[in-house]
Amino acid sequence: LGRAKAAMMNIEDNQDLVDFLKTLLEQELFTDALAGIAKQATSKGIESLSERQRDVVDKFIENYKNRNVCEKCSNGNVSSLSDYIRMSEIGLCPMCEYDKERLMEE
Ligand SMILES: [Zn+2]
Repeated sequence: LGRAKAAMMNIEDNQDLVDFLKTLLEQELFTDALAGIAKQATSKGIESLSERQRDVVDKFIENYKNRNVCEKCSNGNVSSLSDYIRMSEIGLCPMCEYDKERLMEE
């Protein structure tokens, strides 16, 4: 990653995280405690979370990543949290899915 790209991704990070939490809320994948934190994060922003709440979220994300590993690239191509959601549905990250579809068309 170039430095400019890395900086840009940092800014986008929070939005990515909010979208991720919002989707999982809709899928009702959270425990009560996590659902409460996720609701706060999506309505008031990630910045509104306390350090402890943020820890709970980080731990959940870590587990989620460990559970959802792309069968083709082992998450080497994964660039955002929403990629993991797609992966939980089809077992491939979006980039590998794209590659696969392109191969099938040829
Ligand atoms: Zn992949």
